[in-house]
Amino acid sequence: MILTDTHTHLYSEEFANDRTEMIQRAINAGVSRFFVPSIDSSYTQKMYDLEAQFPQNIFLMMGLHPCYVKPESYLEELAHVEAELSKRKFQAIGEIGIDLYWDTSTLAIQQEAFRRQIRLAKKYQLAINIHCRDAFEEVFDVLESEKSDDLFGIFHCFTGDAAQAERAISLNMKLGIGGVVTFKNGKIDQFLDQIELQHIVLETDAPYLAPAPYRGKRNESSYTLLVAQKLAQIYGLTVAQIAEITTQNAKTVFGI
Ligand SMILES: [Zn+2]
Repeated sequence: MILTDTHTHLYSEEFANDRTEMIQRAINAGVSRFFVPSIDSSYTQKMYDLEAQFPQNIFLMMGLHPCYVKPESYLEELAHVEAELSKRKFQAIGEIGIDLYWDTSTLAIQQEAFRRQIRLAKKYQLAINIHCRDAFEEVFDVLESEKSDDLFGIFHCFTGDAAQAERAISLNMKLGIGGVVTFKNGKIDQFLDQIELQHIVLETDAPYLAPAPYRGKRNESSYTLLVAQKLAQIYGLTVAQIAEITTQNAKTVFGI
């Protein structure tokens, strides 16, 4: 069985004491493919080091996270993203998008950074990995104005309703489903069975958003298995079938 964690921050400080063991634990649990989103330039070297340590398992994205779009530094950060993209291969542009939960004052530059990075994805023919928090309308506005056959990707940590799910899918996006689907009040478990499985990929967003029964604790990539188990329940399939289909979906998006 091969499970794919399509969004995991393996370089996080939360894993400072047991990073290698944590990654090995996931591989032993069948989670052997990790897609690692970028946050800002301070993590780039750590990402390259991890990739060198697990070259068969770890695949990298490049991008500037919306919470790190700051007036004083975002132009320099976007220049870093462009420079790295011109140097080597990445599997996606991410994580990018809009976050109005932490800071609404930066909306205009978040929109600008999101649009510029979408255009980079088109230029390099890469998927995008979208971070959207309290900003569905704002994210959809940008996506709809940039809509084209060469714009595709994943709505990471999808927590919207059925109508928003359909809207994301109509924009060539898959839904990244993680720990929230196991939460009692997570809501997405209630309509997910109406969404065809071809539109779903699995993720943890480790070290954040651990699934039940670890809710509130540190998340790690091995818990992708718990998300797969929950989806097996929702869709009435085996975990092996969920693994096969969602890994194939991830390959379709990332090209690997
Ligand atoms: Zn993330």
